Amino acid sequence: MTDEGSPRRVRVAVVGSGPAGLTAALYLSRAQLAPVVISGVPSGGQLMLTSDVENYPGFPEGIQGPELIERFRAQAKRFGTEFVDANVTSVDLTRRPFRLELGAAPPLLADALVLATGADARWLDLPSEQRLRGHGVSACATCDGFFFKGVPIACVGGGDSALEEAMFLTRFASQVILIHRRAELRASRIMQARARANPKIAWRLDTEVLEVLGGEKVTGLKLRHVPTGKVSEIAVGGLFVAIGHEPATKAFKGAIALDPKGYIVTESITRTSVEGVFAAGDVYDHRYRQAVSAAGLGCMAALDAERYLAEHPAE
Ligand code: NAP
Repeated sequence: MTDEGSPRRVRVAVVGSGPAGLTAALYLSRAQLAPVVISGVPSGGQLMLTSDVENYPGFPEGIQGPELIERFRAQAKRFGTEFVDANVTSVDLTRRPFRLELGAAPPLLADALVLATGADARWLDLPSEQRLRGHGVSACATCDGFFFKGVPIACVGGGDSALEEAMFLTRFASQVILIHRRAELRASRIMQARARANPKIAWRLDTEVLEVLGGEKVTGLKLRHVPTGKVSEIAVGGLFVAIGHEPATKAFKGAIALDPKGYIVTESITRTSVEGVFAAGDVYDHRYRQAVSAAGLGCMAALDAERYLAEHPAE
């Protein structure tokens, strides 16, 4: 028991409760290190906003994203993981134990940390887009492309991600309409050349999405051609938003090395610029961004933290 408000000391804390954080917690708890997971509010990460997950191994029939997270959580809890439903508001990583401020909850002192706060997909911020998320609006072609076999769909964005997703989606969709707000694409030349050569991609450049149409599910889009202001509608069964991601690293700014886009910089896979602080999942991996790869990185971060703690006994 700690006095209310006074810091509590633990051997290891995990920040974040998506697949990376919960897998790290599973490994740390089975190593008898009694990890505390700062879940974040809302907790569970991007899978909480995903319906059918068909590419997580071990679930041949598929599983709902929130249920998968619940199972991760139950498995970590079974071996002694404790959960604190709070957000980390700031950190002091200049000395050990590291100190985490948790808003209204008492601060936490930990000898080692696994940071697994993930990244959020950027959205267009249209009310109709938010209403139809999971009902035809998605930010992950790898996850959801399969559900759009033989129907026309749209993909919005002009960077490498948008073109990569559009090309991937042509495997399923009858046509992919690429919508970008400017005439020039941001994507690399090689990706542009590949996408241009794909006959299933149609281009709507200089075009904004005004509204996602549909009641229960996506049936079309209302678009505006920016130079002329002309409004038109297209019929599509899905909208993939690929306009970038935002790593959840605000609380770590200035305390740990981040790249220009705010992702944690690591070496030897999980080691951050601060000894004893490890990172896992989308908070630094902006390349793969899969639940299974995040879980794998969570395992690696936990094993690295465990080794570090073995070399640094509690004082
Ligand atoms: P990005 O390069 O930042 O591109 C984001 C795109 O979304 C831009 O075209 C931007 O338009 C557009 N956008 C942003 N906000 C928007 C809004 N509110 N409404 C409409 N459009 C909006 O992001 P990314 O494509 O995710 O790529 C991130 C990084 O990963 C890049 O460095 C990229 O090269 C890399 N990456 C590489 C590969 C590969 O090599 N295979 C694949 C994926 C990603 P504007 O252009 O008008 O700003």
